[in-house]
Amino acid sequence: MSNLPEMNTQSMLEFLTQLLNTPSPTGMTEPAIALTERTLAALPGLKLSRTRKGALVAAWSSERDDHPRALTAHVDTLGAMVKEIKSNGRLMLTRIGGYAWNTVEGEGVNIFSSKGSQIRGSILLTKASAHVFGEEVNNLKREDANIEVRLDARTNSEKETRDLGIEVGDFLAFDPRVELTGGFVRSRHLDDKACVATVVAAARAITEAGLKPVHPTTLFISNYEEVGHGASTGIPAEVEELVAVDMAAVGEGQNSDEFHASLCVKDSGGPYHHGLSNKLRNLAEKNHIPYKVDIYPHYSSDGEAFWSAGGDVAVALIGPGVDASHSYERTHTEALVATTKWLVAYLLDE
Ligand SMILES: [Zn+2]
Repeated sequence: MSNLPEMNTQSMLEFLTQLLNTPSPTGMTEPAIALTERTLAALPGLKLSRTRKGALVAAWSSERDDHPRALTAHVDTLGAMVKEIKSNGRLMLTRIGGYAWNTVEGEGVNIFSSKGSQIRGSILLTKASAHVFGEEVNNLKREDANIEVRLDARTNSEKETRDLGIEVGDFLAFDPRVELTGGFVRSRHLDDKACVATVVAAARAITEAGLKPVHPTTLFISNYEEVGHGASTGIPAEVEELVAVDMAAVGEGQNSDEFHASLCVKDSGGPYHHGLSNKLRNLAEKNHIPYKVDIYPHYSSDGEAFWSAGGDVAVALIGPGVDASHSYERTHTEALVATTKWLVAYLLDE
């Protein structure tokens, strides 16, 4: 039998919902970092700070002072910026992060002006109306030139749009459309807010049981992962083991699913650290945590960002299975619970 401290699943789902509803496209993550900071600040034993780049660092006091470790998860998400204000008043976009336009076609969005105002709109094809364009709607290539934002404001010209306060470079966030049904969590940006929620839930479970991690532990909440360099700096050099907590890729040919946590042993960046991966595998076995082992074909993580930047550390990757990643994503509470328990087991392991 496993004797891990109890986790509070309800509070994890509440924090996750709050975080999902806090827009945080890469480059505009301050509100999501601040929310995570406030939540962690309520737990005893964590010393919080920010990097100059805006990431959140929690240094957690421990039972012992040897073999320091770190966990990382990221709050930044896919999104877009205004690339151009068109002569018809609509917006041309540039994507932030790697996704296909068809995954956000028709989505509601918020545009954040540099002056602080917000304007609603929708992402549409430039030739969206079936009654006007017929077959072209189906055949038009989903590429930057054929995608635009229709603003929910009266504008038919570049000037009218500029008068609304909108400028080139303004950030845009997609509506996350969070829905919890029958144990499933459906939302955009479960990558990687689901994992930030598991890291916070693990910290809560340990502190509420009156415990501390065995080894000095840094929680690194990254804010530039989706563009590749999130954790390239900010993890203390003395850290010996880094567990990146990020979604598992679910789909045809994959071993992962929405009801398990996955250990990724290889992705686009090559194999992870065999010794640390095996340590996690053994912990999952010992604590009866439902897990899978998998390989992700089109994927890289903040663990690899730290490696690429010269980090001398063992890196492993675990996380809940997320269906339709970088599209309209979904996972199940069971996978979130499994991931949280796995983190708790790791933090309390000798
Ligand atoms: Zn991710």
